[in-house]
Amino acid sequence: MSIIETLVEKFPVRKSGKQKAAFRAWFQGWAQAKGYEAQETKAKGLFRSTNVVVGDPETAEVTFTAHYDTPAVMPLPNFITPRNVLVYILYQLVLVPVLLLPGALTGALTGHVLRVLTDNAGMASAIGGFAGFIMVYVALGVMMFGPANKHNVNDNTSGVAAVMELMARLPEELRGKAAFILFDNEEKGMLGSAAYAAEHKAVKKEKLIINMDCVGDGENILFFANKKTRELEAFPKLEAAMQGVTGRNFLMNKMENCIYPSDQAQFKLGIAVCACNRMPVIGYYCDKIHTKKDTVCEQVNLDFLAEGLTGFVSGL
Ligand SMILES: [Zn+2]
Repeated sequence: MSIIETLVEKFPVRKSGKQKAAFRAWFQGWAQAKGYEAQETKAKGLFRSTNVVVGDPETAEVTFTAHYDTPAVMPLPNFITPRNVLVYILYQLVLVPVLLLPGALTGALTGHVLRVLTDNAGMASAIGGFAGFIMVYVALGVMMFGPANKHNVNDNTSGVAAVMELMARLPEELRGKAAFILFDNEEKGMLGSAAYAAEHKAVKKEKLIINMDCVGDGENILFFANKKTRELEAFPKLEAAMQGVTGRNFLMNKMENCIYPSDQAQFKLGIAVCACNRMPVIGYYCDKIHTKKDTVCEQVNLDFLAEGLTGFVSGL
């Protein structure tokens, strides 16, 4: 069984504390069997995110990361167009009324009932407004902490599998050059990576981070690098290594013209990696994320990334 098949079968949902702990324990055993040492680090602060660190990001030349937590199910897919910022923002604007709808309905209904019952219009609208306000927060809470999405193959079992494929293939003599981190609580607002960056200032400011989030669905593999990262000595080597691999369409993008919110944003030298499909007009997109239809991760994507990134590390 491949790594992605094993993950999807054994740990399809990693949302509750228990599910995450079971996955981490298994991962540590797997890493050990491959000759690595993986360590859990529990962060301070909200939700006590537990990241898993392999190797030493402080001394490694590059650290490969992916979030291992999975999201709550959402009423609408998180449709993302990383290279089309206008469409990205328009879609997010469509989501806002959907999110506000339960609050608006609750407020209007409560106000109406109270007006009929009490004949006190001022009090009715005040309480109705308050009820609607509370409901907005309830809706936000359900989106973050609500029922787990059952299928998380692309977001982000694919990223975890990509990190593991790379770990499995990296020759022993190259392993000092690379480190790996599986972040917790990306879906709650990048809490795991933020905690890690806060506790490791040198990594946050000076180290190259390559973060894989939703890399399984789509034949276009997009990298996003900011200006500082593009000025690194290692950057042309990364581009050349990825361009040297066949099987997928590799695109390097300037982060300042794109939008892809994920854990790399916590690091000054963070590169984002995702897979996209493409359609006319809209361009490159990721869909199905945060819905039950998130069931696609193509092995060829994982092979492409693992081969290219292994080549990159060997050239460092
Ligand atoms: Zn994700």
